[in-house]
Amino acid sequence: MSVAEILFIVAGLLLGLAFHGGMLLFLIPFAIVAFVLAWLNRPRLAGGPNSQNPTSNIPIISIGPRSTNTNPVVSPDLISEFRNDHDRANEPEAAFKVSQVWARANADINRAMTDMLCALKVIVPGVNTAIVFTQQNNPREWGVRNYVNDKEMSVNPSTRLSESGSLLSQMFRSGVSRILEGDLPSSKVLSFYLDNPPVKSVVAVPMLDHSGNRVGILVLDSTAPNAFTDKTAQALVYIAKAISMLDYKGFYSAQKHIALQQYAGLYNYQRKFFQTMTVKDIYKQIINYVKANVAYDRLTILAMNKVNESAGRVVYCDGIESSQFSEKRFTLSDKGIFVLAMMRNRPVERSFTPGYNEYVPRLSDNEKRNLNLRQLFVMPVATETDAATADMAICLESSSSRPYSEHEKELLKAFAGVAGFAYDRARKFEHGRDLAMRDGLTGLINHRTLHESLRSEKVRADRKKYNIGVLMMDIDHFKRVNDTYGHPIGDVVIKSIADTVSSEMRKDIDVVARYGGEEFVVGMVETTAEGMMEKAERIRKAVEMLAIDVHQTKPLKVSVSIGAFLVTPDFHDMKKAVNNADQALYRAKEGGRNRVVRYELDEESMAPKA
Ligand code: GH3
Ligand code: MG
Ligand code: MG
Repeated sequence: MSVAEILFIVAGLLLGLAFHGGMLLFLIPFAIVAFVLAWLNRPRLAGGPNSQNPTSNIPIISIGPRSTNTNPVVSPDLISEFRNDHDRANEPEAAFKVSQVWARANADINRAMTDMLCALKVIVPGVNTAIVFTQQNNPREWGVRNYVNDKEMSVNPSTRLSESGSLLSQMFRSGVSRILEGDLPSSKVLSFYLDNPPVKSVVAVPMLDHSGNRVGILVLDSTAPNAFTDKTAQALVYIAKAISMLDYKGFYSAQKHIALQQYAGLYNYQRKFFQTMTVKDIYKQIINYVKANVAYDRLTILAMNKVNESAGRVVYCDGIESSQFSEKRFTLSDKGIFVLAMMRNRPVERSFTPGYNEYVPRLSDNEKRNLNLRQLFVMPVATETDAATADMAICLESSSSRPYSEHEKELLKAFAGVAGFAYDRARKFEHGRDLAMRDGLTGLINHRTLHESLRSEKVRADRKKYNIGVLMMDIDHFKRVNDTYGHPIGDVVIKSIADTVSSEMRKDIDVVARYGGEEFVVGMVETTAEGMMEKAERIRKAVEMLAIDVHQTKPLKVSVSIGAFLVTPDFHDMKKAVNNADQALYRAKEGGRNRVVRYELDEESMAPKA
């Protein structure tokens, strides 16, 4: 029940009592006063003439809190720190959580801001709308952030205030510290209404961000003339400050929360890195981390070579036109910006504007030029912090107009430190493992590793039902080489034959081992009897053609004898397979050397034939 209704009832009761008996006629003036008060307090439609006593409005107004859920009062540089671009090729997984935290903070801030505006509306007499405008994407344009008003008044939430065109535009000028109007002409309507309520009074003060920049405006209006005073304006300055502070602090705590989460994520990767031993796994972890935490349109990861320290290759590339970079090799003399960042072990960032900046090569001059990739950030990864050159580089590019934020860069920097350490450790581990697995002279796997490799190849072959061809080879009359030229030259011969055999086999598929002094074993994956014999013959011929320069008048010529055995899916003993190939080799030697002999299984019961 409204105040007016109560007053009407009171007036009626008084009148009734007055006419009930002659003694109560003195109640008539009171009834008239109650009646007048009730009349003045009657509910009115928007735009109706306002009461002389604006406070009488307070109990009957209906306050509708409205939030537009847009950007906060904090300045845009802070906002952009955490804003995620959802249109980039890689939308970071973690960004989901970030936007959630951000949304929750925004909702909390909005609720508190609404409460403050409601309080303003209750305390200040005659207020129709209390409204906050803040900077949106464009610093010279303010949009509706939050407002509270009578339900009947329709505010347009997509209103934009610019530097000219409306009464409130004056507030863009730094000299204007407030707007206070008490008798607006009916033509001078406020631009944020959909209908045109007959607003007579308006008071506005600027909203300042944490560094004192003007980022918006707090406005109260009223249909009553001269509704606001200097004092109202003064009070509003404090309220505006409080709203800004609320917004800043609310946002700041969300920011800290997000940063904390992200650093916790970093700690998780540190743990993962400790469980990761191989260089390949380190690459995988780096890719996972970047994908989960940073938006990009192209991600390129470069690594220097282990042996040749002035060259490297692209170990990973994802996103726009990534195929042109995948597996691409480069040397430090290539003048691409990625390579440069790596060479100097310094992060590099660039912003390009299409049509304004020229294309800057990433790896080398002859690559495809994409001018749409406007932002670039390269984070080098070094195994030692103060190393002159880096060992890896994480290269991010995006087509966004927004440069990579300080926060993103800091996060990558922290990650690069951890990754560099893990990379160093993995490389040392692999080096140690290689020493134990491989033969120092030829770089081939050794006798022990051969049996392990053949066993695991056999497991795979059984699953997929294919054959493995085993070749055993031995250099012919090698004692003579040693005797004639000496042991060191003998080593050169062993090395060049090892290289010849390896070059005939498929890298990372077939198994090639140095079995003994001048003996080699090959495991040919997925082959046929004919395929195996052809390959063996090719190896034999290639060695025969070899002319090894041993600094003598004539190059040295050697040959090999080869024994071959085909491991079919029904044959399971790989040690025996090597023995069978060895038996065939024996026959090749007996048969006059420099030849290939195959061990046939169905002859097993009989004497081996040459
Ligand atoms: P055959 O044609 O019968 O194989 O005659 P061969 O002289 O090659 O005889 P065999 O295979 O038995 O000879 C192996 C020789 O290889 C013995 C050893 O002096 C030499 N040798 C083994 N390992 C090395 C090595 O690492 N370096 C060098 N220079 N010689 C080695
Ligand atoms: Mg031998
Ligand atoms: Mg030999």
